Amino acid sequence: MIYADYNGSAPLHEDVKQFLLQRLQAGPFANPNTLHSLGAKVHSAMEKCRAVCAKTLGAKPEQIIFTSGASEGISTIFHHELTDRADKRNILVISSIEHSAVWKAAHDYAAHGFELKIISTKPDGVVDLVEYQDFMKNSGEKVALVSIMAANNETGVLQPFIEIGKIAKNFGAKYFSDTTQFIGKADFNFLESNMDYAVMSGHKVGALVGSGLIITKNPLGFKPLIFGGGQENGHRGGTQNYIGIETLAVALHAFHQNKSQLDNVKKARLNFEAKIQKAFPEIIIIAAESPRLAGTTLLSYPGIHGQGAQIELESQNIFVSTSSACSDNEPATSRMLLAMQVSEVVGRSVIRISFGINHADTNYELLYDGLVNAYNKLKKIQSF
Ligand code: PLP
Repeated sequence: MIYADYNGSAPLHEDVKQFLLQRLQAGPFANPNTLHSLGAKVHSAMEKCRAVCAKTLGAKPEQIIFTSGASEGISTIFHHELTDRADKRNILVISSIEHSAVWKAAHDYAAHGFELKIISTKPDGVVDLVEYQDFMKNSGEKVALVSIMAANNETGVLQPFIEIGKIAKNFGAKYFSDTTQFIGKADFNFLESNMDYAVMSGHKVGALVGSGLIITKNPLGFKPLIFGGGQENGHRGGTQNYIGIETLAVALHAFHQNKSQLDNVKKARLNFEAKIQKAFPEIIIIAAESPRLAGTTLLSYPGIHGQGAQIELESQNIFVSTSSACSDNEPATSRMLLAMQVSEVVGRSVIRISFGINHADTNYELLYDGLVNAYNKLKKIQSF
């Protein structure tokens, strides 16, 4: 089997699997917030994990708030920044290619009184920095929050978050970047990121689904979205998913140890893209010239529907996605591709191939063979 949908959800990392096998046998299982010794043991392990996560992400342990994943993190950050503001900052800035977790949260706040500015994206998949800068020059003093992602989930295109954060800061606006796809697939250092907030989801990095975290530059006064018994220093109620948190630390540690592999993934991806384009010159690699995540390719064979290609590949035990998991049920061109002015015929024909850091060259080779078979077959069917 070839699994090439890491941007949808990464398989459990081998180190996480080994850790869990032993952890589930040995215990302990207890509430980390209780006072007995088993609880204290779980609590102490959780705090060690917080330190590991912080270290690998370039943050301080007190800046980490554990959550159930990125969607919760995003909703919480919006809630913290935008509810009951005492000042006159009433503008929210996002980009046209944000994931629906940001897109829908932003539109909800817009429906409740915030002015929403959506920054365009250029055909190369990069957010229009000039438009953003001009907008901030004119209205920056009224901007409460800028929310522009670090890496796009469909195209893998990396966004200039350091510049975006710098501009936000110049106008006293807070900057949140949706780093869900960036963390665990690229080298990330919160301290050097110019971000006020970042998020991650465990299942995107090979940890357990249902785990995740927020990084906040300033934890003081961070408002909870979920009320509870004061867990996470009062920033997020509810008993922590401590086993999930332990897997976060294992997966992030493994990534940190192996991040030099990213160059090999990128090389293998570029080689694969060149080969498949040579075999089928009609194929378009979306945002081919832009800086992208090491293992993400969004390719289109115009006229061959992405879902058809996906099903054909699945019959060969190869798993890809048509675009993002959240829009897989929509057989139309995604909102993000429309924002990049990709035509309907190209947009409907995309498949997304995404690997993580622990890819193997043979994966790309087998994928190439499978794709050649699939497209040759689908081309024949189409010509009838
Ligand atoms: N943000 C981005 C960029 C994503 O790709 C995803 C998931 O695909 C999310 C947010 C939401 O993550 P989760 O579903 O793990 O909460």
